[in-house]
Amino acid sequence: MAIAVSDLQLKLPGLKMIIGEDRLDAQNGATIAVEDPSDGAHLANVPAAGTAEVDCAVAKARATFESRAWSRMRPIDRSKLLDRIAQRIESELEALTLLETYDNGMPLAHARAYIMFGADTFRYMAGWCTRLTGKTYPGAIDGVSYHTYTQSVPVGVVGAIVPWNGPFVMAAWKIATALAAGCTIVLKPSELTPLTALRLGEIVLEAGVPAGACNIVTGYGHTAGQSLVDHPGVDKIAFTGSARVGKMILQSAAKDLKRVTLELGGKSPNIVFADADMDRVAPAAAMSIYASAGQACIAGSRLYVERKAFDKVVDAVASVARTLKVGNGRLPDTDIGPVISRAHRERIMGYIDRGISEGGKVVTGGSAHLGKGYYVDPTVFVDATPEATITREEIFGPVVVAIPFTDIEEVIRQANDTTYGLAAYVWTSDVGRAHQVANRMQAGSVWINSGYALDPAVPFGGFKQSGLGRELSEEGIRAYMETRAVYTYIGS
Ligand code: NAP
Ligand code: MG
Repeated sequence: MAIAVSDLQLKLPGLKMIIGEDRLDAQNGATIAVEDPSDGAHLANVPAAGTAEVDCAVAKARATFESRAWSRMRPIDRSKLLDRIAQRIESELEALTLLETYDNGMPLAHARAYIMFGADTFRYMAGWCTRLTGKTYPGAIDGVSYHTYTQSVPVGVVGAIVPWNGPFVMAAWKIATALAAGCTIVLKPSELTPLTALRLGEIVLEAGVPAGACNIVTGYGHTAGQSLVDHPGVDKIAFTGSARVGKMILQSAAKDLKRVTLELGGKSPNIVFADADMDRVAPAAAMSIYASAGQACIAGSRLYVERKAFDKVVDAVASVARTLKVGNGRLPDTDIGPVISRAHRERIMGYIDRGISEGGKVVTGGSAHLGKGYYVDPTVFVDATPEATITREEIFGPVVVAIPFTDIEEVIRQANDTTYGLAAYVWTSDVGRAHQVANRMQAGSVWINSGYALDPAVPFGGFKQSGLGRELSEEGIRAYMETRAVYTYIGS
């Protein structure tokens, strides 16, 4: 039995924006209706912020940053607060999981794993608070001795914008990193999935982080998001979303040279050699595209299979696709939830139609469920050309394009023949070949004989048009900091 919306009432967050110590509606009363993609039911209304509300949130973040209450707090105390946030997330794991599933549609097990990854990110970043040290540089300049050292200092006020496909975990990455660095933050969740970010904002404050250090502003991308990007009081933009919006953000941020990190889309190759462990390949290749109903930036959406194993692997992936249960994410036996919205379902179906009209052949799937909820069957395409739209563009739906290859040079060239460069997967029992391929992938993450697994200690991000900079890891936190060099005259 699915859990009814009434069961959720108690768990719903305040549904007002968190700006400093205040819980606010939009000044003009404008709201955004939030729906459950599993059946289209109305869940809640959240405020639709405009420039005035963004101004207010940035002013609070700036004042808190300048007051130094946060950025000058003893690092070990800041670390304790981040750790406490992780504990609170874990203690609310089931409520947050349910809320995420209502809002985004993803199956409960998937939501739970994402929420836990958010908690892990806070715990990992807590460890950095006391380790953001600089270096010393002994030496002389023109015969004069100097004692020179560097400091790692917070960049200031961060404007963070996150998408709907991993609403909680994406918000957690940005907030945990900004706070660990000593920055203050204004976060705008996607208009489609604002609920768990609002709850996370409350958890952060309940854990003892000073009001104003973490502000959550709900609103549309082209209004609230754009105001945040344009705001002169914001020092850095941390964005996760589409390449199209990422490019617009980079242009807007150029006006005052804001620091920018971008985590964008992908069209990631999954490369299978005939000597791979076939029992593991098919389920992993299937989940690499179908988990999240294909709405994962690192989805393995192009399946390259060595020609002599092509039919076998395609059949095996198609059989897994047929057994996956598509349905309401709150039902325990659901493997694949709905896609995020009616509009997105239509977009995915448009790609499937285009794939067929451009000569592709559907092996399995290819249809949407009509009626309530936004479901698309797991789909496998063959016979799409390298130039076909479905081979080149990020569909962000449960659609994989299978393509045969003959030799290693051919597959490396094809795998890299994309504007994106987020992830790649290689399957082979030949260790040397696995590394040869990995070393030549133009991709920020490569998995060998594995579906995706992420670790907050490891840098994550994209080559080429999949992004700019890295998140998580030391590299991720350094992107929220400036380096200051201090020269001290000693004497000649
Ligand atoms: P999107 O349209 O780019 O939106 C992402 C966020 O940007 C949303 O909060 C959106 O707000 C906001 N936004 C839209 N227009 C804006 C503007 N002019 N100025 C400022 N903000 C604006 O992407 P999406 O469709 O939500 O998400 C899917 C994309 O994200 C895919 O391409 C996927 O690959 C990528 N993604 C990448 C990663 C990664 O780490 N590399 C992770 C997850 C997703 P509204 O929702 O309110 O419009
Ligand atoms: Mg929703």
